[in-house]
Amino acid sequence: MIYCDYNATAPLRPEAREALGFALDIGANPSSVHSAGRKARGIVEKARQSLATAIGGRSEDIVFTSGGTEANALAIKGALALVEKPVVFVSGLEHPAVSAQMPDNARRVSLKPTGEIDLDDLKVQLDALEEGEVPFLCLMLANNETGVIQPVQAAAQMVRDEGGYTHCDAVQALGKIPVNVGLLGVDYAAFSSHKLGGPQGVGALWFRVGAPLKPQLIGGGQERSIRSGTENVAGIAGFGAAVEASQAVTAKRLNDIRDQFENLVSAAAPAVFFGKTCDRLPGTSCFALEGFASETQVMAMDLGGVAVSAGSACSSGKVKTSGVLTAMQVEEKIARSALRVSFGWASEPSDAIAAAQAWIKAAKRAVPAAFKESA
Ligand code: PLP
Repeated sequence: MIYCDYNATAPLRPEAREALGFALDIGANPSSVHSAGRKARGIVEKARQSLATAIGGRSEDIVFTSGGTEANALAIKGALALVEKPVVFVSGLEHPAVSAQMPDNARRVSLKPTGEIDLDDLKVQLDALEEGEVPFLCLMLANNETGVIQPVQAAAQMVRDEGGYTHCDAVQALGKIPVNVGLLGVDYAAFSSHKLGGPQGVGALWFRVGAPLKPQLIGGGQERSIRSGTENVAGIAGFGAAVEASQAVTAKRLNDIRDQFENLVSAAAPAVFFGKTCDRLPGTSCFALEGFASETQVMAMDLGGVAVSAGSACSSGKVKTSGVLTAMQVEEKIARSALRVSFGWASEPSDAIAAAQAWIKAAKRAVPAAFKESA
């Protein structure tokens, strides 16, 4: 199987596997004071430091969670519980881990057809705030479907100028592009281990000192009482090792692989590529060929030995028209034919060629009319 679905989950890195196994063998509670417990604590704190170094933050400001979904929920719910007169701003870009947390009265910031948030629209909406209202912006760093990198730094500055807060879902960005929470100027940032080659079921929230945050899981007081529950020591160890390993990845290698894939596809068929005019995550390609339904493409590619996704694959195998493409004003008939191919740390140039060949073969069979001219 040629795996081209890294934005859904990246395969486990060998460094993460080793760290996981080592931590599992300790088998102690990191809150226990005996030596085995202290060893487990050491593992958790080492991983926290690895993440802090990677994101340019302090380890004290990081809380481990059960994944990106929980990290996003903790930031949004935990902040909105304390901010007075919040006005939430969100675009149609966000993953359900964020969009499903939005209050009914959240205000929608439009997207440009390129796939980036419209900063002019955000400015107009911020200017319209009334006295005492506090803006709270949710803006992801890189989109899981198109890979488009968002102008988070500029948006967060605008929000800060109005005395507000920005939460950034950086789940898809970490390990793929540089992430520096200080430079971004955000107040909260969510991360997930399995997107960069760590194990599933572990993530983290970073929050700025002084940013309001009400604990959502209360109990034994772990993670400085911000997120109770015995830490997933092995998962955290694997996460930390994956973070360290991912810092050595060069974006150019993955961009070359992705570009080779896109060049082969576009030379063969009149496919439309999304987000191509913006900075994108290295390795991510989202495109459509009208008339070739997303789910048919995924199944045909699977039969051809290539694993890909139709838009966002995080839920249940159900394929819905992408909300992101709709927000980018892509016509429904095109959006229904969107496919996401995502390469990552173990991808090779030969994967791009094999994936493109499998797609072209399937597309020729499904939509022969699109190939008439080149036939
Ligand atoms: N945010 C984004 C942008 C994602 O792509 C995902 C996963 O697909 C999540 C959040 C959720 O992360 P997790 O699967 O760790 O809960």
